[in-house]
Amino acid sequence: MNTSVIGYPRIGKDRELKFASEKYFRGEIGGDELLAVAKEIRKGGLLKQKEAGITYISSNDFSFYDNVLDTAFLFGIVPQRYKDLGLSDIGTYFAMARGYQGEKGNVKALALKKWFNTNYHYLVPEIDDDTNIALTGTKPVDEYLEAKALGVDTKVAVTGPFTFLKLAKFTGSKKISDVSSVLTGEYIKLVSLLAENGASFIEFDEPYLVRDLSAEDIALFKEIYTSILAEKKGVKVLLQTYFGDIRDIYGEVTVLDFDAVGLDFIEGRKTAELVEKNGFPADKILFAGVVNGKNIWRNNYKKSLETLNGIKAANIVVSTSCSLLHVPYSLESETKLAEEYKKHFAFAEEKLTELGEIAALYGTDFENAEAYKKNQALFEGRVDCEDKDVQARVAAITDADYVRLPVFEEREKIQKAKLNLPLFPTTTIGSFPQTQDVRKNRQDFKKGNITKEEYVEFNKRKIAECIKLQEEIGLDVIVHGEFERNDMVEYFGENLNGYVFTEKAWVQSYGTRNVKPPIIWGDVSRRAPITVEWSKFAQSCTDKPVKGMLTGPVTILNWSFPREDISIKESILQIALAIRDEVLDLEANGIGIIQIDEAALREKLPLRKSDWYGEYLDFAIPAFRLVHSKVKPETQIHTHMCYSEFTDIIPAIDAMDADVITFEASRSDLQILDSLKENNFKTEVGPGVYDIHSPRVPSVEEIVAALTKMREKIEESKLWVNPDCGLKTRGDEETKKSLVNLVEAARQIRG
Ligand code: GLN
Ligand code: ZN
Repeated sequence: MNTSVIGYPRIGKDRELKFASEKYFRGEIGGDELLAVAKEIRKGGLLKQKEAGITYISSNDFSFYDNVLDTAFLFGIVPQRYKDLGLSDIGTYFAMARGYQGEKGNVKALALKKWFNTNYHYLVPEIDDDTNIALTGTKPVDEYLEAKALGVDTKVAVTGPFTFLKLAKFTGSKKISDVSSVLTGEYIKLVSLLAENGASFIEFDEPYLVRDLSAEDIALFKEIYTSILAEKKGVKVLLQTYFGDIRDIYGEVTVLDFDAVGLDFIEGRKTAELVEKNGFPADKILFAGVVNGKNIWRNNYKKSLETLNGIKAANIVVSTSCSLLHVPYSLESETKLAEEYKKHFAFAEEKLTELGEIAALYGTDFENAEAYKKNQALFEGRVDCEDKDVQARVAAITDADYVRLPVFEEREKIQKAKLNLPLFPTTTIGSFPQTQDVRKNRQDFKKGNITKEEYVEFNKRKIAECIKLQEEIGLDVIVHGEFERNDMVEYFGENLNGYVFTEKAWVQSYGTRNVKPPIIWGDVSRRAPITVEWSKFAQSCTDKPVKGMLTGPVTILNWSFPREDISIKESILQIALAIRDEVLDLEANGIGIIQIDEAALREKLPLRKSDWYGEYLDFAIPAFRLVHSKVKPETQIHTHMCYSEFTDIIPAIDAMDADVITFEASRSDLQILDSLKENNFKTEVGPGVYDIHSPRVPSVEEIVAALTKMREKIEESKLWVNPDCGLKTRGDEETKKSLVNLVEAARQIRG
């Protein structure tokens, strides 16, 4: 049986791409050096896969920032404002990704959005009425030839035209139907160009097919691929889908002239049923995604082989369920994790072995095979996994635990009287710049180079300075700055029972930002108070209110690698109880405002609307309420969410019953404000007034303009003024300048 990998990690085993890119951005290295680093990374991935004997290895899965941006660039879909900067190709590319502020101009980055239900982000292509769509780039060809020169004949992976169009934003009067045939024509040229250069296999990634599709969508898909497939010039075409099943279009897909279709048997709840009921054409290859590209647990060969044996298709290839971009490189880098833990995990490299073993076992009398027996032994049990007390606590939760009293309107009055904040109160989202010294202090402490006292002393000095700065700037609600945290989820994980940690298990979040999700290993509980001392100290430095800062249960779970042996709901409730303990301790220690971040709440919303409540919101929203339901009426609960794409779940967000919510709005044109108004949103709101994902300093006028728009839609008494996310990725200077402008803008608006 043959094997396939949809895409391989590309940040470098030691995050080489991040470090090289950042050096390049700072002007410390030139473009050539950056290109050389990238080439090494690609080579490493290709040779690993080749060594592992993978049959279908992808090229063009690499990206300097994001594959959707690459595709936009490939077809010349570059908004005029970036062209006007007159930068080099790579300069223009990075200006679209990160914004540009310098001698050649001042433009914001393209909008950044979460990639389906992952924590990866793509840049939203913009198509306006003047966009001249034309194949202008050669990246897929170059990377195909580069791989070939290394002795790897790859399938060339490209973002498919349907998904690309569905994700693009149309800023003028044109619609998808106005540009789809032009774009299709350019894709056909790409296929020809690849064919001329010797490529024999192309993979079109069309994850959008796993969403709810309208009749119009289906017609569009058919139209696009009928044209492309009529011109494939002997090249074999794989339609690759992932993150779910393609129930709305399975029939159409299987009659089109694809040579192969890739289906996700992990997240696609109905995939097996679709194939079973409708059959799969004998002249096509089915790429069966049974090795989870998103989680890090060992594959259960019994299950996978059962799945594969259940598929009635003439020709099956065993594949990853999605790109391995979402998992870390290799367990080899984990030197501190004991073998009894490690043996239960598979990162990208180990997944290559799994693919090979499954392929070898398939069609044999596998029950007696060594590889099979060894694999099955892993599922007999794990050490340190169960905690009866935690299980009992979850079982004892009652309906009353999910309800906060008195109701919002009453609490709002009580809190306004107690906090006595000005109109349009100003605040930040929590973290302040994680400068070199801050990171060094944490690392030194971790390595044992400094004592606990020295570590704490340093952080306290930082907190005191940070508070002084905020007082000088004139912010109304102060934060301590989060200097003790590497990451908003890992930090809590480290202080909870039931977690295990990795050293180098980084995965890409966006651009040069990588995250190292902790692993939920067993039942979760809090060992001891986590943030209380820091918050207490911070409050002792100022008369202004200091906001306690926690991460909510849904985000902790969503940004960890979750268990596969108990339900997500059960895990979330365990975490909620642990965070609730922390909330009540903060309150008991004099912290009157507590922010519980749910940055990742939106991202795990099922891709199909019909599943939103039944499979997610029905337990995610109550879990948040469980965390804060027992605080006093005067304690103000804030929450924060990144990305404002929650227009369609506004009632659910309101049902979190927080007192204030801050969220990202600056990159998405404040569309959400209308929806808040329409839905009579009761929670007070701070739609971010500037984009912190870019180093650009917003002007006072710009912020005043944003606030003026907001005031039209949001009651004065409910509007907060804040950046759109935490400031940890920014530098000191731009942060101070931006916040000074923010406070000045609030002052002007009050006047
Ligand atoms: N409180 C966190 C911070 O400021 C929130 C981060 C986030 O929303 N991603 O860093
Ligand atoms: Zn955020």
